[in-house]
Amino acid sequence: MDIINPATEELVATIPAATPQDVDAAVRRAAEAQRSWSALAPGDRARHLRRFADAVDTHLEELAQLEVREAGHPVGNARWEAGNARDLLEYAAGGVERLTGAQIPVAGGLNVTFHEPLGVVAVIAPWNFPMPIAAWGLAPALAAGNAVLLKPAETTPLTALRLAELALEAGLPEGLFQVLPGAGPVAGDALVEHPGVAKVVFTGSTAVGKQIMAKCAAGVKRVTLELGGKSPNIVFADADVERAAAAAPGSFLDNTGQDCCARSRILVQRSVYDRFMELLEPAVKSFAVGDPADPATQMGPLISAAHRERVRSYVPESAPAAIRGEAPTGKGFWYPATVLEGRPEDRTAVEEIFGPVAVVIPFEDEAEAVRIANATDYGLSGSVWTRDVSRAVRVSRAVAAGNLSVNSHSSVRYWTPFGGFGQSGLGRELGPGALSAFAEIKNVFIATDPLTEGT
Ligand code: NAD
Repeated sequence: MDIINPATEELVATIPAATPQDVDAAVRRAAEAQRSWSALAPGDRARHLRRFADAVDTHLEELAQLEVREAGHPVGNARWEAGNARDLLEYAAGGVERLTGAQIPVAGGLNVTFHEPLGVVAVIAPWNFPMPIAAWGLAPALAAGNAVLLKPAETTPLTALRLAELALEAGLPEGLFQVLPGAGPVAGDALVEHPGVAKVVFTGSTAVGKQIMAKCAAGVKRVTLELGGKSPNIVFADADVERAAAAAPGSFLDNTGQDCCARSRILVQRSVYDRFMELLEPAVKSFAVGDPADPATQMGPLISAAHRERVRSYVPESAPAAIRGEAPTGKGFWYPATVLEGRPEDRTAVEEIFGPVAVVIPFEDEAEAVRIANATDYGLSGSVWTRDVSRAVRVSRAVAAGNLSVNSHSSVRYWTPFGGFGQSGLGRELGPGALSAFAEIKNVFIATDPLTEGT
């Protein structure tokens, strides 16, 4: 597989793609490593994970630079991403000794619950946030006593491969965490179909997520899905409109819009619509686009030529737009920041474009805002801008999405739960329950009185 720098179109590396035979051998090695890993004392498992986190921290700059080259992410973002992988490992390490069961009162004995590891977990990651999304599955799965096989996206396997090397250097057992770069329908599918894989954690498109869920059903395999989104950014007339307009570009341009939480539908109350658009234009145009290696850069290129064609199929660069930013010309998969004015039923307002494109839609009142916000099969994130606390709570509760923010666009913290409603996904990642998603609860009753059956 040729790995191409999306900002320059230069070849970064060529790596072999895993075959179904490679997957089979990896599952066997992982199963063996998992048995001894889960038998370790919790404190020892936690220590291994902290050492792994330290190794990531020591190599943070190297990992970030690799992300700049293979994914075209601005270096500031890439540093945050490597730091997020480290933080996940530390957070999960802190959970190992705290994965406690319950003691439940019964007659004639003792009833306790255990969190048993699942075995071998497959993490199938996308290209938009290669390191964080890999770590969201990897860290809690290892902490709960599982082995992990990570299948990175075809375009972005390099940071994943480096993480696996760092895990070994940090002393994690051979085979416990392996990376299988390869094609989704080949290596990814082999993992999903393999009877030795107990759970699949998938992040990517809704279409592929549905296929994976159907395949997992055949073996009643556990599955977590983090899929797409078309999240609303709702700006009420009583909001601080200046702040809302200043914050809006980052909410759909960060990572060049290749973000499942992108607030790509901006709903604005009609009485402040013109003012908001006036303020939005300079904010969008001043979003710094260019060389990802420059720390001042806020937006880089799209991931690939094929993806840019997909974005163009929604909005050609020549299409009329309310606001259009600049983008470099020449080599690289550049696409300018684009703001359209539209209606809720427009294709650009319904489908996930996954590029730096937002659609602005006016609304009259709160009821209409909620109706438009919920007129989607997705339900991942959303923002509400208002100074009215009651409205903030009402609208946050009424929008059918997993991650809402008020007067902010922040949706992701490793210590708070993350996941989607509707076709945005199934299950939750991160937060206090992260490790439980990688364990089966086992209930054990121990009779203390041999003459009592226990009731
Ligand atoms: P994708 O769903 O095809 O790929 C995601 C991951 O799944 C990759 O690792 C890929 O190799 C793997 N995969 C693909 N087909 C598979 C299969 N049959 N079995 C097992 N694994 C398989 O996503 P994409 O083609 O990279 O992007 C397409 C669109 O998906 C984007 O434009 C965007 O709308 C959406 N997307 C969403 C997210 C997200 O964070 N929710 C991430 C990436 C892409």
